[in-house]
Amino acid sequence: MRCLNFLPLILLIILSSKVLSQDIFDIESNCDPQDQVCNKIEQEFVNAGKIISNNLILNAKILVELIYEPLDDDTFGQTTPVLRIHDSPDTVQRLYPTALLKQLNITFEPDFVDIQVSINSNANNSYWFPGDPDIQSTQIDVSELALHELIHGIGFTSTWDFPEDQKFINFLTPRLNGLEDNGDPEDPIIFDGFFETVFDGFLVYIGSPTRNFITNITNSINSFTAKGTEFDNMDALNSKLLETQQQNVELMLTYATTKSSLGFLPTGSQDAIILDTSNPEFDFASSISHVSQDDYENTTEFLMTPHQKEGVTLQAQIQQTGNTPGGGIGPNLRSILGTLGYTINPNPPNNTNSNFQ
Ligand SMILES: [Zn+2]
Repeated sequence: MRCLNFLPLILLIILSSKVLSQDIFDIESNCDPQDQVCNKIEQEFVNAGKIISNNLILNAKILVELIYEPLDDDTFGQTTPVLRIHDSPDTVQRLYPTALLKQLNITFEPDFVDIQVSINSNANNSYWFPGDPDIQSTQIDVSELALHELIHGIGFTSTWDFPEDQKFINFLTPRLNGLEDNGDPEDPIIFDGFFETVFDGFLVYIGSPTRNFITNITNSINSFTAKGTEFDNMDALNSKLLETQQQNVELMLTYATTKSSLGFLPTGSQDAIILDTSNPEFDFASSISHVSQDDYENTTEFLMTPHQKEGVTLQAQIQQTGNTPGGGIGPNLRSILGTLGYTINPNPPNNTNSNFQ
């Protein structure tokens, strides 16, 4: 009897652990079944998940909530990865996307999803889908948009931003207490630290005279007071921070708004990948969390530039940049993802149109 009970359990474990790499990304959308555009967008996210699964060795499901909704005019999509605090290999606690923690078999407080993506439902005329007639000069390829957004969702993301208290617009910090929302700025607040993402942990200053790891700046910023210190309100916290760390927090705003200042240094590499800091007005949605538009838009690394080119398809760009394997994920991007902690497939398949039926 014991054996009979035991056997199905083993089978169940074997079956459930065999997640096909093609099915790793589980896309749940709010699409009305009658809404053709929304359903085509959802299909492109499914395909983008397959491309990522061809580039990485993934073993745990990644849950994506796709919300089709009106966004600002200049936005096609925006992505929020669910983040949790975890010890980095250098023993610093950083914010990790749950999509990555799952692959590393690390337990965390779960959320409903790992990645939330919003796609602008007001921009339908700008969307081109594989299989449509020729792309127009005002259109973007949704297959590229979907891939771009999912890459943000699995960890290509920074937390450097202006303080939540909007009175302070002259400096940047990593995320206070690791939380997107620390509540009413007038309420008392306990300082638990400024938290970088795992991505931020590999940021370097690449201007002259010397290369510096930005995490050293974070370390200094975090020393402004002891963890556990209570402040009357957020204003008091930020004022104390400025008193002792003004140079560092203001320096980071300068870096983030000066072209060719920041890079991402992959593990084992001497060459930093240049990040986009060309916008003189810091914009959380585009500054730092992209590769340099000017340096990479016509290279194999075009995917994570801040502005997606109109009038050209993902497949055309792959061909124009040398037909490198990876389906739009270039070698530098693969090494960034490997540095974050993903296991890389060193030989991703050559590009085919099989994902774009
Ligand atoms: Zn982006």
